Amino acid sequence: MRQALVIANWKLNGDTALLKDMAEHFHHVDIQEQVNVVICPPAVYLKTAAVLFEPSGIELGGQNCSEYGSGAYTGEISAEMLRDIGCEYVLIGHSERRALFAETDEMVAGKIKQAQQCNLRPVLCVGETLAEREANAVESVIRGQLEKALGEADFNNLVIAYEPVWAIGTGKTATPEQAQEVHKMIRDWVASKAPESAQKLQILYGGSVKADNASTLFHQADIDGGLIGGASLDTEQFDAICQAA
Ligand code: PEP
Repeated sequence: MRQALVIANWKLNGDTALLKDMAEHFHHVDIQEQVNVVICPPAVYLKTAAVLFEPSGIELGGQNCSEYGSGAYTGEISAEMLRDIGCEYVLIGHSERRALFAETDEMVAGKIKQAQQCNLRPVLCVGETLAEREANAVESVIRGQLEKALGEADFNNLVIAYEPVWAIGTGKTATPEQAQEVHKMIRDWVASKAPESAQKLQILYGGSVKADNASTLFHQADIDGGLIGGASLDTEQFDAICQAA
């Protein structure tokens, strides 16, 4: 069986007070046996988070990393630096980075490569827009994103997050059936490339997951947990989502 995984993506939110609140709360809640919990705060908070979360077993992830390893790239943070300060995971190709920061599939592939070279587990985010869904292009869009990002990837050190763009931060969630259909398609695609990895690969759903819809989503056969944005900023709600996984 695959271990459940819930990842918090704080985006450009949160502060030291929220880190302390979460660390204190999760120190008293023993959920790591059932589910791995990962928090991705803004990069400037990672070092503090590493110290505060140590007793709770919560793991850390970056929200992005550079496609370059080192050098004259002002403002960038490398995969190796994230690893060096205690991260285990890094989000790659989030739809906000693709849409707002012009991240291309080629850049996404470079970042996956950097992360895997440093033994940091990339969480590749894929998903279709509403227009693409309405044009019946879900499968071709997702397959295209997977093909371009994972051409040289190691499927044994990878998480994939299916995040329909129309569901991120909108309050609209994919139905469990819609999500399961895409998750199965992703797993079948992985099986066609790396048959021995497909059943082990964790595939997360993201897009307006809340405490009240998490359980039905997470109980679908190919949904192994969630990537949580807005609801991960509320300690009690995030805890309830982790408990549902
Ligand atoms: C996300 O940012 O990855 C996300 C899923 O956001 P939200 O949960 O707010 O829709």
